Amino acid sequence: MTEPARILVVGGGYVGMYTALRLQRQLRTELRAGAAEIVVVTPEPYMTYQPFLPEAAAGSISPRHVVVPLRRVLDRCRIVIGEVQSVDHAKRTATLATLATAEEGTGTLDLTYDELVIAPGSVSRTLPVPGLIDHGIGFKTVEEAIGLRNHVIEQMDIASSTRDPAIRDAALTFVFVGGGYAGVEALAELEDMARYTARYYHNVKPEDLRWVLVEASDRILPEVGEEMGRYAVRELRGRNIDVRLETRLESCEDRVAVLSDGTRLPTRTVVWTAGVKPAPVLAETDLPLNERGRLRCTAQLAVEGAPHAWAAGDAAAVPDLTSDEPGKECAPNAQHAVRQAKVLAENITASLRGQPLKEYAHAYAGSVASLGLHKGVAHVYGRKLKGYPAWFMHRAYHLSRVPTFNRKARVLAEWTLSGLFKREIVSLGSLEHPRAEFELAAAPPPDNGDKPSS
Ligand SMILES: Cc1cc2nc3c(=O)[nH]c(=O)nc-3n(C[C@H](O)[C@H](O)[C@H](O)COP(=O)(O)OP(=O)(O)OC[C@H]3O[C@@H](n4cnc5c(N)ncnc54)[C@H](O)[C@@H]3O)c2cc1C
Repeated sequence: MTEPARILVVGGGYVGMYTALRLQRQLRTELRAGAAEIVVVTPEPYMTYQPFLPEAAAGSISPRHVVVPLRRVLDRCRIVIGEVQSVDHAKRTATLATLATAEEGTGTLDLTYDELVIAPGSVSRTLPVPGLIDHGIGFKTVEEAIGLRNHVIEQMDIASSTRDPAIRDAALTFVFVGGGYAGVEALAELEDMARYTARYYHNVKPEDLRWVLVEASDRILPEVGEEMGRYAVRELRGRNIDVRLETRLESCEDRVAVLSDGTRLPTRTVVWTAGVKPAPVLAETDLPLNERGRLRCTAQLAVEGAPHAWAAGDAAAVPDLTSDEPGKECAPNAQHAVRQAKVLAENITASLRGQPLKEYAHAYAGSVASLGLHKGVAHVYGRKLKGYPAWFMHRAYHLSRVPTFNRKARVLAEWTLSGLFKREIVSLGSLEHPRAEFELAAAPPPDNGDKPSS
């Protein structure tokens, strides 16, 4: 019996999940007959719908509902929880570390394949800012979003209980670096949530909280265009948010954020959302990369000069065929990732069946961004919206986009319920240390000398 053709998908995010989903539908006959096999390697058993992270941080959507369980959705694929550490495409072999290899102490294992889909996305692009590695907080994963929510509420608790004004001021100062949609939406949603939460504190008022957005260029939210970006700055400033354009974070050591305009901000919160760079695993492959570290791809989503290797999404430099600018690449966003995944799956199927391949072409349709509850900004297909209509459009758009009917229904139910009841204001930071209480209870009593206890 011949071995099934193995399609290895690296990454279970937008591209990985949508490509595998389409492949398992298109190759149903081959999968059933044992002629093909799809293996998805991903560090987490779920796909994260990242545009919902700011709402998860604000408590409008529970963390479980911003993720999609891969085992349920990709029921005809083999899911391997692990990380691809390197790829030797010349030998059609990927080296992986899984939970089992870690447990068994066997190091790594090699997996051979026939077709490779490489979609490990991107990671935060950091700069050598002193103190950033020790104190910066990222905003790309559901763990970071929930961790940040807990952290913000915890700072309000610290401020409420301390008598030291310096500790109080630092606790109530929140600095966000990077004015793209991740940074602006995260800041706007959290500020909204914290302002509401302050009602329940006897000694913390909304005006005591200081929110600062630091952006190196002269505008924010480039995704919604210049006019709407300017509106977003006005909206945020109108809420007392300190938006600093053409300003950089110089350092954040010893709990003081120093900005390029000379401002020194004592703070316990520096959120870094200043862009992304391709996943580090790409450098551990024999596949061609461009100067920014993205995989060089053709418009058919094949890796240049590497037959049987395919890529899309944040990790891939795909030529933008709709642009007049020579050499322009598709931007790293979900809009491209989802559409590329569709073409990618169709091209793999076509190539296995000896049929012609398609080219990927999609003109950027614009973007929607939430600026907190009932506030937003949008520029889609030439239409500009602000305030409530933009916020409503943001919700409607993302509800239509979040994968699976199950998740759509749950998110809609949550939004409906939160309209009827008050907002959640609790911090569950202790979830990050679930054994702490038991360890305290089980610890030997402190040595009190020879004094018998009475
Ligand atoms: C807070 C936030 C809000 C956003 N909002 C929007 C928005 O409103 N609109 C929009 O268009 N875009 C938005 N984006 C961007 C969008 O989410 C990304 O462009 C999109 O996720 C890219 O898809 P991808 O498949 O390339 O990467 P991802 O979805 O990030 O998936 C990559 C996957 O690969 C896995 N992986 C990484 N390394 C390895 C490895 N070595 N081995 C195996 N697996 C690996 C990762 O764990 C992950 O599961 C947002 C992003 C963030 C962070």
